[in-house]
Amino acid sequence: RGGAPERVIPFAQPSSLTKVYAIVSGKGGVGKSSVTVNLAASLAAAGHKVALIDADIYGHSVPRMLGVTGAPTKVQDMIMPPAAKGVKVISAGMLKPPGQDALPIRGPILHRLLEQFLADFYWGDLDYLLIDMPPGTGDIALSLARLVPGAELVIVTTPQLAAAEVAQRAGTLVTQTHQRVIGVIENMSYLLCPHCGEPMDVFGVGGGEQVATALTKLTGVDVPLLGQIPIDVRLREGGDSGTPLVLSDPEAPASAQLIKIAESL
Ligand code: ADP
Repeated sequence: RGGAPERVIPFAQPSSLTKVYAIVSGKGGVGKSSVTVNLAASLAAAGHKVALIDADIYGHSVPRMLGVTGAPTKVQDMIMPPAAKGVKVISAGMLKPPGQDALPIRGPILHRLLEQFLADFYWGDLDYLLIDMPPGTGDIALSLARLVPGAELVIVTTPQLAAAEVAQRAGTLVTQTHQRVIGVIENMSYLLCPHCGEPMDVFGVGGGEQVATALTKLTGVDVPLLGQIPIDVRLREGGDSGTPLVLSDPEAPASAQLIKIAESL
């Protein structure tokens, strides 16, 4: 095709020891970024070397949720990502020119941006690279499959069956890309009533199980339901304040689920 030379992506090399997980969802608002940030913080707290790429170009919320205040810095000809809570982070929001709010980005630019994140930053030796993907079945998932064929998918859904259907469609993409879906995370599974302690099924039941079963059938490989995370006001507050709940209260039921899932990665 000519043009720029192919860049070397360390995570795509056969010798790479980094586990790369793309966190995907069918639609926005299901808690994909919140889950990703808490998983990254759990892994870092457990002593792993972790990086998080915020590829959710339109809804980039990772820096705020992790309390990242720094910007990428140039050291000789390398670009170093900023870090917070032991997690190296790069986000589209860090690259946009000051004063510009929305990024006018289309498919091919998105591909190049992801390539830039993967190839041009100095990540060092990583145990885990998590990638917060844009919701849906967009081009960027195909881009990732081309750039890092070994990347595995984690699907986030709510229990709501309508949400599960779109999540399932996002998962179906792997039949084209031959990526592995390592499991499904159900978020906002229930709310513990602050008065009586009984769980309330705010968004219904069964979405996570439904996606896991459907993708197991589709791929012929077991796709487990990795965990069910309750609604917790403090999980949202932790995202707003930049301290993930798994760090501020590892004993909370939502944290316990997230930490258990992180340990299974
Ligand atoms: P997505 O990345 O899927 O668009 P977000 O992670 O941005 O979703 O979450 C959407 C909103 O829901 C945010 O305000 C977030 O704080 C909140 N949220 C996500 N998961 C939970 C949860 N388990 N309990 C309470 N609030 C949550």
